[in-house]
Amino acid sequence: MVKKVIAREKLPELWAHLSAEGLLILPIQDGPVVLFQPWYAGADVRLDAVNSAVSPKDIFLPREETYLHYRCSGQQLELSAVKSEEPVTAFGLHPCDMKALEMLDRVFMDQDPPDSLYQKRRERTTLVALSCDKPDPFCFCNDFAVDPTDAPGADVMACLSGNSLRLEARTDQGKAMLERAGGLLGDDSGESVELKEVVTADFGLKLEGLPEDLKNRFDDPAWDELYKSCLGCGVCTYVCPTCYCFDVEDYGHAAEGERFRCWDSCMYGHFTKMAGGHNPRPERKERVRQRFMHKLQYYPETYGEIACVGCGRCLRSCPVNLDIVRVIKALGGEKVEQR
Ligand code: SF4
Ligand code: SF4
Repeated sequence: MVKKVIAREKLPELWAHLSAEGLLILPIQDGPVVLFQPWYAGADVRLDAVNSAVSPKDIFLPREETYLHYRCSGQQLELSAVKSEEPVTAFGLHPCDMKALEMLDRVFMDQDPPDSLYQKRRERTTLVALSCDKPDPFCFCNDFAVDPTDAPGADVMACLSGNSLRLEARTDQGKAMLERAGGLLGDDSGESVELKEVVTADFGLKLEGLPEDLKNRFDDPAWDELYKSCLGCGVCTYVCPTCYCFDVEDYGHAAEGERFRCWDSCMYGHFTKMAGGHNPRPERKERVRQRFMHKLQYYPETYGEIACVGCGRCLRSCPVNLDIVRVIKALGGEKVEQR
């Protein structure tokens, strides 16, 4: 196993090296928030940040992407795909976001056919995960069996240790990345990078059996109260690492244009509106119920686990505190001894 170490003061040299190899994405301070974005010289890289405001899912599912140009001339239709083959290094994803990526992989890649746009980005990206050592009061990944010190899907597992960053290759791709960084990195003869035991918030959630229990709770009176405070702003779905709804649209005119897809949200009134005008989820109650039933019942029915990783973003971001912890508790998913 290749294990390397680098002093934190030398990290800008590592960023410059990795960005010369392709697109380097890091958690960077952007005004009052930290966001995953392409590195630039002088960027305020925040490896010490607890969590980015928005999840890094847009590395693989961009907020907006044009993927096809079309041109019509008489009876001729010309289509040209828009693609980028640039290698990507995504550096600093915490274990909760890595676990969420596993959930997105099932949706976009474990299908026939897979989503080629997503799959190609996954294939050309080297993932460097970063363990957490100081969760904030909203982090509750332990509830969802995520180990905040380890990320099984990583090519390289990293951890901050004093004035150093320690890096441990987990795949051949990760090993090659560390070897290419050559003289910038020193050999690390210490223990495994999974050093610390970190405990995140305990909201007393009882999750076992919840998906099964929810099968008969579609018309539960709890939904009649829960939805009322929702503003329908969609923030919860945009920040969440396990939400993946998107829309596909054409832009242009009959002779020439482009096809793009962009994030969408089940919290928006027009999301399920059909061409004939019918909307199966016309009210906010149905939309709020859909968001949480999808995470707590529908996704687990299909893939075997609840589609939440306890990243805490909906707790930090929802302007009316209609987060997943509140919903689970309202549906009775709370440990009996804590009631
Ligand atoms: S639950 Fe909160 S964040 Fe989500 S749409 Fe409603 S108000 Fe906005
Ligand atoms: S539902 Fe909330 S806590 Fe769970 S993964 Fe999404 S944003 Fe994070």
